[in-house]
Amino acid sequence: MISHIIDENNIERLQALINGVQRIVITCHKSPDGDALGSSLALCHILKRLGKDAVVVTPDMVPKALEFIPGTRDIIVYTKQELRACHALNEAQLIMCLDYNAIKRIDRLGEVITPLKTKRVLIDHHLDPEDVFDLVISHPEASSTCELVFRVLMQMGLLRFMDRHAASCLYVGLTTDTGGFAYSCDNPEFYEILASIMRRRIDRIYLYNKAMNTFSADSLRLQGYAISQKMRLFPEQGAAFIVLDKEELERFNYNRGDTETLVNKPLAIPNIYWSVFMREDPDRIKVSCRSQGDFSVSSICSKYFNGGGHENAAGGDFYGTLDEAVALFYQVMKDLFPDAGIQEQPTQEQEQQ
Ligand code: 5GP
Ligand code: MN
Repeated sequence: MISHIIDENNIERLQALINGVQRIVITCHKSPDGDALGSSLALCHILKRLGKDAVVVTPDMVPKALEFIPGTRDIIVYTKQELRACHALNEAQLIMCLDYNAIKRIDRLGEVITPLKTKRVLIDHHLDPEDVFDLVISHPEASSTCELVFRVLMQMGLLRFMDRHAASCLYVGLTTDTGGFAYSCDNPEFYEILASIMRRRIDRIYLYNKAMNTFSADSLRLQGYAISQKMRLFPEQGAAFIVLDKEELERFNYNRGDTETLVNKPLAIPNIYWSVFMREDPDRIKVSCRSQGDFSVSSICSKYFNGGGHENAAGGDFYGTLDEAVALFYQVMKDLFPDAGIQEQPTQEQEQQ
């Protein structure tokens, strides 16, 4: 039995909002991942089956590696089709906000949405949602927004509309946000949801391989380089730190998504329980953090890197030079471990480790 964790009042309010409108826009966070796209596309597909004019608008491009998710071709990308995106949002009677908790997570799309009077519904599993939504369905204990979309459909009695297409989309987010069923999936109900999705006869192996185990040769080489040459370990503090600068990214013909799971890799090392990765993007330094156990990286990301996320998986942006971002990492280390005598340059002995 899958329990009704979402407040029934909120389900009724959502039902009423959807019943009362025709045109619905679904948005998700910038640099969309498998969960953002999977949940948005599944919901969009089902709303269309209910006879609504629904469309997904993303703040920026869909990574090439995620174009396999059913329905990506119909997405309106704000940075590519600004007029179409603005038109869809201006005409929308309801805006659904999936897999993000703050307006800054949708970049410049936020400037389009903020002035609109249109009602906004949040469906999300990140900590601490901002107070800018008219209806908030926020469950940080959920594995993924895809799980929440499933639960919303179930509680609204709409599961019969979940066909193979929608189930495939949901499967992607359930898979990617749990690192391939490695973490955030301790609730037995997660597997009941998975079972219900499997009954829609999805091509599970195809989707799993596309979502979890498909990298270009350049991406694999870049990850190999990052691990062999750039990973600094702090065994006493259980930490790993990887930094890739612009020149290194260019050397490996970096494409968006190429470093997607890199930050998780050092956690394979016994006694390394948190990992930080910094990437020098054209407009900012992207910071990604992962941890195991009760060490919270979301608080580090919100305190130091304008970000947030989940206890064990969080990210943020640093606006400044890469050197400044790296210095801030060492500040984090010093703040967390004031007595450890952390050195910004590795000693020869550490370099040989
Ligand atoms: P990633 O490191 O893969 O970009 O992000 C890890 C997790 O943290 C994801 O759930 C992502 O949505 C979240 N996250 C990444 N960047 C930010 C950010 O700037 N703010 C917040 N609140 N969450 C973020
Ligand atoms: Mn998510």
